[in-house]
Amino acid sequence: MSTLRFKAISETFNRKPVEVNEPKRRSEIFGSNVFNEAAMRQYLTKTSYNSVMDAIENGAKIDRNIADHISTGMKEWAISKGATHYTHWFQPLTGSTAEKHDAFFETTGGGQAIEKFGGGQLVQQEPDASSFPNGGIRNTFEARGYTAWDPTSPAFIYGTTLCIPTVFVAYTGEALDNKTPLLRALQSVDQAATAVAKYFDKSVSKVNATLGWEQEYFLIDKALAASRPDLMLAGRTLLGHASAKGQQLDDHYFGSIPTRVLNYMRDLENECMLLGVPVKTRHNEVAPNQFELAPIFEEANLAVDHNSLLMDVMDKVADRHHFKVLFHEKPFAGINGSGKHNNWSLSTNTGVNLLSPGSTPMKNLQFLTFFINTIKAVHEYEELIRAAIASASNDHRLGANEAPPAIISVFIGSQLTAVLDELEKVTDGKLSPQEKTDLKLNVVGKIPEILLDNTDRNRTSPFAFTGNKFELRAVGSISNCAQPMTVLNAIVARQLMDFKEEVDKLIKGKKMKKDDAIFNVLREYIKESKNIRFEGDGYGEAWEKEAKKRGLSNNKTTPEALKAQVAKKNIKLYEDLEIMTKVEIEARHEIQVDEYAMRIQIEGRVLGDVARNHVIPTAIRYQNLLIENVQGLKSIYGNDFKKVAGEQMQLIESISDHIAHINQGITDMIEARKKANKIDNSEKRAFEYCNKVKPYFEEIRYHCDKLELLVDDEIWPLTKYRELLFTR
Ligand code: ADP
Ligand code: MG
Repeated sequence: MSTLRFKAISETFNRKPVEVNEPKRRSEIFGSNVFNEAAMRQYLTKTSYNSVMDAIENGAKIDRNIADHISTGMKEWAISKGATHYTHWFQPLTGSTAEKHDAFFETTGGGQAIEKFGGGQLVQQEPDASSFPNGGIRNTFEARGYTAWDPTSPAFIYGTTLCIPTVFVAYTGEALDNKTPLLRALQSVDQAATAVAKYFDKSVSKVNATLGWEQEYFLIDKALAASRPDLMLAGRTLLGHASAKGQQLDDHYFGSIPTRVLNYMRDLENECMLLGVPVKTRHNEVAPNQFELAPIFEEANLAVDHNSLLMDVMDKVADRHHFKVLFHEKPFAGINGSGKHNNWSLSTNTGVNLLSPGSTPMKNLQFLTFFINTIKAVHEYEELIRAAIASASNDHRLGANEAPPAIISVFIGSQLTAVLDELEKVTDGKLSPQEKTDLKLNVVGKIPEILLDNTDRNRTSPFAFTGNKFELRAVGSISNCAQPMTVLNAIVARQLMDFKEEVDKLIKGKKMKKDDAIFNVLREYIKESKNIRFEGDGYGEAWEKEAKKRGLSNNKTTPEALKAQVAKKNIKLYEDLEIMTKVEIEARHEIQVDEYAMRIQIEGRVLGDVARNHVIPTAIRYQNLLIENVQGLKSIYGNDFKKVAGEQMQLIESISDHIAHINQGITDMIEARKKANKIDNSEKRAFEYCNKVKPYFEEIRYHCDKLELLVDDEIWPLTKYRELLFTR
């Protein structure tokens, strides 16, 4: 008997929704576990408070003496909230988060003890980090890593621990985390965008990138998930026949949220409120048991931290509600996968969204400037964007039969396309007063009106303009947003710097008016970046052909996509902007190709084990039953037995046939793995895993799934798709 499967199902049937205590008003608890401005005002001296604010707003350094004051205030606040420990919270290159807890408690001799937390402990700490991936950086430099406080992201309390957001760097200065390059990219885009924004408003002194992510996920009962070794070890089902009913009726998308799930969401949202994560919307997604959670957008660094934190919290709260969260991009074959749309824009210290059309022609010219520069940046660096979202799990979405595709393109809608078409016709050189008036009144000035009735929102584009922001939709649901945000902000920074230089050249060299110069440069950008714009259905063969003609990359697998990270042009981008050095870039590439190979290796092992230990023995057991049955029939019917045992005999043969294929597949796959493991070069090994090992998965799975349909349901050991997806 397949006891685990049936026990899990009956456990799931007997679950009751877990009660949640909700505050009357969420606004009252919002941020109460965050060392935010209000808490700082209460617990810090004026000098300390100003010093932190100066660090947040202007990147100023915090004096060591003042750090001592800050740490004391922070500790008092944390203890008043019940915290006993502190940790430097950081985002190593594995994509998750890491922490090491230390107690505030210290002995002072004579049997006495105090709570202590000095400035040194706030500002810098050495985690025992030898086992975090570092792509050879630490070995090369024989240096250790340390974590350093990032004051721009506020400390918070989770459980009984004060968590201090930090960067993680080697003693020789190389970044060993996801946050450091992000902070550098954000600084670049701030400088570049501020300089350009000053063309339109001299009072702009800072530009923040903003990010609003939308987190998709699957929620499966904990017992059901635990009954599937593939879900537990690889995060996705490596086999399993499609359920007779899937998502074709769209009934989940429009349906109400099941009570157990709703209680989970309410509990999760409460935790988010305490932590200052401004979650706002929740709903069902397309696939059964698939959901989405989205916050109000925030400054990008904070939003990235909040998404990482959220994923941790989601796991922990799910446990209370007897659920397991599946963050994998494609946990189930044949139904929709999960993504994490990254809504991105730029916002000035004067409160203006630079990607929002305004009420005057001047504001709209500003909008167009940032809008067109972003498109141009994506055109120049589309392969780098693809690389930033590449992972073994996201490969199942991008480039597989699902939108968005592996080809990066930009969707802007027909109305803005028409505007760009008009701007492309702008006169070369100085503009006549009449042309300028006409442009301002009839093209630029009309943008807000046309956008109001812009209804044709394309859902398949990987990078779409959605009214007042761009939406990078190709990011994987499991990934850290830091990488795509680093790339996007870096390439826009580069682009805006180039733009500024070109415009200034026309103003100084050709004595052009500022507006004329801007129109001239934008006209050229529109022409040069035309190939990246695509309004059609963003996936399928026709688009792949068309994209190829246009010279757009279509890197379908992770090892292929990651090559762009170490391309000369992209190394130059990072080095010029001082976001990463060549050493740092190459180390990251190494880590990622390594991780890719390991993930495929794990999947291969799990699939081999499950197929050999679960599927084949079960199939043989059932086959034995059939053989007994046929023998019995023979003893009754003698030579005529075939008339009544035909179906059984066919089944016996089919089962043998599938078993033979599975066995052969596994044997060949293991051989391929052995060969791949002998390759020293990480990138080559990743390619080998991708092209020589992975293809066996489908073959093995096909035959396992066929057996699932043949074998008696009573003895099938693996919880089936219909049970995973529809048991509530
Ligand atoms: P949709 O219709 O796709 O749900 P929303 O306007 O609700 O669009 O936005 C979806 C996400 O975009 C939310 O997370 C929201 O906070 C975010 N968002 C909205 N405006 C901006 C902006 N200016 N910058 C970054 N993200 C934004
Ligand atoms: Mg979206």
